[in-house]
Amino acid sequence: MIGLEIEMLENLKKEVYEANMLLPKYGLVTFTWGNVSGIDRDAGLVVIKPSGVEYDAMTPDDMVVVDLITGETKDGTLKPSSDTATHLELYRNFKDIGGIVHTHSRWATTYAQARQGIIPLGTTHGDYFYGEIPCTRLMTEAEIAGDYELETGKVIVETFAGVNASDANAKSHANTKAHESDANANVSDANANVDTDSATKVTYHIDPLSVPAVLVASHGPFTWGTDPHNAVHNAVVLEELAFMAWHDRSIDPWLNPMQQTLLDKHYLRKHGSGAYYGQ
Ligand SMILES: [Zn+2]
Repeated sequence: MIGLEIEMLENLKKEVYEANMLLPKYGLVTFTWGNVSGIDRDAGLVVIKPSGVEYDAMTPDDMVVVDLITGETKDGTLKPSSDTATHLELYRNFKDIGGIVHTHSRWATTYAQARQGIIPLGTTHGDYFYGEIPCTRLMTEAEIAGDYELETGKVIVETFAGVNASDANAKSHANTKAHESDANANVSDANANVDTDSATKVTYHIDPLSVPAVLVASHGPFTWGTDPHNAVHNAVVLEELAFMAWHDRSIDPWLNPMQQTLLDKHYLRKHGSGAYYGQ
């Protein structure tokens, strides 16, 4: 590595470290849960939080550098986060993102565990997310037993690539049904939920930069952004949206998404070619 590359990597380590330290600051993590990563696309390297280190004890030098393609550790003495394979799969597929955050933040995880996406209900949502924040399908027995973290990444990518939500649930249903497990009844519930809302959400063809978050079913949220700090910013906004959406839904369980015109107004004035807000 030449001097400039080393310097860029040191800067990225510092940036990823600082972004990780924002997670406890904003109340998004408990214990050592949660992780932030950042990517140097030119070098093909990802910098990520080490596994199991307390936030108080962490330093920029503890950040681990891994290869984008192979996942091999290139620099650092600690083990990379156990979620590294999920991060890498997202970077390999979502080519324009520069940072990723994973937490088990309370309200976003509440939606993930209920296996429901978060529909746009107000302009706070519209300022950051252009449409529903989707929830993935359930993972199959084989995916869970196999290369679990990599498969988690693949299920997220599949959600954005355009898999029909009802089909995805039906697929999970079929898998679970074959095992005749207790989960069967719960999955039927998930299907019922999807059917109820089928008028407002069916097909996902989602631009990851327009909707920079996902809820992994029965697990928790991943968010991303142009860089690690932007990804943390989106994680904080997501948590706030989940908190508000849960309360809105408790007032009116059948609440419809906000007007499309209002969503367009708020998202498009801040993002895209016609953006004018804050300039
Ligand atoms: Zn997790």
